[in-house]
Amino acid sequence: MKTIHLPMRHLLLFGFIILQFQLGFAQFYCRPIDANATPREHVADILHMKLEVAFKPEINLVLGKVTHTFKILRPQADSMFFDGPGITIKSAQMDGVVIPFTISPTGVTVAFSQKPRLNETHAIVFEYEATPKKGIYFIGWNHYDSLDKRNKTRRQIWTQGQGIDNRYWIPMYDYMNDKFTTETVINFDNKFKVLSNGILKSEKALSNGSKIWNYAMTKPHAGYLLMLAIDEYAVKYSKTTTNVPVQFWYYPEWPEKLEPTSRYAEKIIEFLERETGVKYPWEQYSQVMVQDFMYGAMENTTATIFGDFFNVDSNSYLDRNYVGVDAHELTHQWFGDLITARSGADAWLQESFATYYPKQFFRQLEGEDKYNWLCKQDMITVLKAAETDNNPVRFSSTGTARVYQKGSLVIDMLRYVLGDDEFKRVITYYLNKHSYGNVETNDLYQAVQDVLGQSPDWFFEQWLYHGGEPNYKVSYQKENKKIRVKVEQVQELTQLIGLFKMPININVYFKNGDSSMKKVWVQKQSEDFYLDNENNQEIDFVLFDAGNKILKRLTFEKDNLDWANQAQRAPNMIDRYDAFVALRNTPLVNKREALVWGFQHETFYGIRSEIIKQLMETEEMFDMVNAHILKEHTETVKSFIASYNEIPKGFLYYYEQWLKNPSYDIVVSALQKVYESNPEKTSTYLELTKAKVGQNNNIRIKWLEIACMAEFSKEENLNLLISYAAPDYEFKTRVAAFEALKRLNICTPLVIDYGYETFSSFNSRLSGPVKSVLDYFAQQSNFKKMMVSRYKKCGDTKLKEVIKSSFSWL
Ligand SMILES: [Zn+2]
Repeated sequence: MKTIHLPMRHLLLFGFIILQFQLGFAQFYCRPIDANATPREHVADILHMKLEVAFKPEINLVLGKVTHTFKILRPQADSMFFDGPGITIKSAQMDGVVIPFTISPTGVTVAFSQKPRLNETHAIVFEYEATPKKGIYFIGWNHYDSLDKRNKTRRQIWTQGQGIDNRYWIPMYDYMNDKFTTETVINFDNKFKVLSNGILKSEKALSNGSKIWNYAMTKPHAGYLLMLAIDEYAVKYSKTTTNVPVQFWYYPEWPEKLEPTSRYAEKIIEFLERETGVKYPWEQYSQVMVQDFMYGAMENTTATIFGDFFNVDSNSYLDRNYVGVDAHELTHQWFGDLITARSGADAWLQESFATYYPKQFFRQLEGEDKYNWLCKQDMITVLKAAETDNNPVRFSSTGTARVYQKGSLVIDMLRYVLGDDEFKRVITYYLNKHSYGNVETNDLYQAVQDVLGQSPDWFFEQWLYHGGEPNYKVSYQKENKKIRVKVEQVQELTQLIGLFKMPININVYFKNGDSSMKKVWVQKQSEDFYLDNENNQEIDFVLFDAGNKILKRLTFEKDNLDWANQAQRAPNMIDRYDAFVALRNTPLVNKREALVWGFQHETFYGIRSEIIKQLMETEEMFDMVNAHILKEHTETVKSFIASYNEIPKGFLYYYEQWLKNPSYDIVVSALQKVYESNPEKTSTYLELTKAKVGQNNNIRIKWLEIACMAEFSKEENLNLLISYAAPDYEFKTRVAAFEALKRLNICTPLVIDYGYETFSSFNSRLSGPVKSVLDYFAQQSNFKKMMVSRYKKCGDTKLKEVIKSSFSWL
């Protein structure tokens, strides 16, 4: 008997006897228990939240007043709880009457002055103060001991509400299953600009040099999506061809970075409106950059915040740009903001869609090869994560590889199974039906039923409620007038992983140029499929799942000649790429023709990198690569440089040319390599690159490191290098400087002070890497002594505690 694909709820219906029967004969395939999937209970429906705030940023202080307008859901309730850990409540009122409240470590409970009645609207007002640890961040206002000597750092205030951090600066109902309109009224210094959610209703200058900004949402959203960003920004106003107003909030010092940083934003909105069949759901869209952001970006409703490391010029655009993240956050304006998961277990309904649509955007922008390549990278990530566990996509603690990458591939497969047009109709219906509300996975399933009359239980069970991936073992054989293709599913069957049912294309290509295709439903543990071959033609190669539509592991038993044929003649780049990968350990004699063909014909950087790597393994192929390498794509060059510890013989000239490459990353790695392999020309190399800064000073820091290594005006350059570790730079620059100092093994009292200062940062992408550098220095007794002495001299008692807890030996 084979494993039965019955979920738990069905088994309970059939009763205990069937359960026993199953346990006795096969793996018990069931959905895992997910205790955290239950949405939070609450007694009221918040309708509107009005927030009025002012700040004293030098002391991290929030002075606030918040008004919650609500209707009670259960009239027997006599009190109500608001999240607000650490917030000092000054007063509480209900409907204009002062009411008692009690503070607990997690928030504030108010006792109702009178029992609220069903369908009546009430208001609770808190006046409060907070010095929040999370949720809102004050950048550059209070560096300890004035280490920011040049006073160069930006002064910013910005927020990050997701997961549940807005509660640290606003007493509020902070969970995704209640949605309400918000209004934000901010009183701050006139010379700054303030962004919040929705429409700017008014902006009023006061005589004391401050100003009041009043923003409001007209449609409800979840509390974690409320945002603020404050800095001395410039704003560029734009519009999509579909009339969505778009604002780009940027640093006025670098006007030349505005275009590369905001490239395609309007096009992405237009694309998403077309693809989803649903107009952009809000009155306007803004994106704003902030310093020291701990993630890539955050999709606050109408106002995405992103890390200013994405603020790129047209050169650094080649290395890293905001386009993919922009598309991700913009997708969230529909999936996440318009419709919001009811609990964390359904987070995939937000993140997977926000991973899926950017790939579709790139497909339209750069073509099918790029799209297939992005899917391939996601598959690699997912299969890697499967080595640790096999939690389902729809599961509250399943990890990013499931919620982002795997879920996005599942959406791709749902589209593949339903059909393009059918899929789109389902999505349009699903978004419209649940607009401004909450969703769970079953709502998507219901949408398929409502729109198409189909019940793809099997699909949802195997790909979303259960874990694992199919592992197919495939072989084929020529028989009389037929080709027999044997398919086995060899994944280990467990409680979480069953057999998979999927429609899969098998393509046979013949020597004479003919081909034949058959779509088969693979669902058994072992099955044979037959394709016609009336004239007993010779087979060139066979593809199982052409175009790599299905998330899977695959062992296809083919000989080298088959792979070489596939590498040259499969219509889809990704199938040719897989063939080249399969040829990695094949002797050159058996793959020479395919490699040469590939080198002459392939244009996509992913496959070119693979071909070049294999060609370089043999000296006779060197010249071919050598003659062409300067024309290669940025990504191919990077992959080439990364493949060699030392510059391959005969390639020094090209590395020297790469010092002038537009890509800053290429300049950085080429500079390191030419210095190592040809130190006598160091002064020439440094002269050539001395004016280059790079992205987040990456070239400048590498330049200073090499200058120090080569003892080039060492003291001066060393002081310069150390200055990049100071708090007046953003975290990327600082981390790069610390890592350069580690490679130089240079530690000074100032380096330690700068290092200790990072421990006051909320941003673990700063403090984490810097701690590793300090740990490294602490292994040397002279540096360790210096660290003890600097610790004793640190004047900030709070910071001192953090430092002590980070180094056990202090
Ligand atoms: Zn996201």
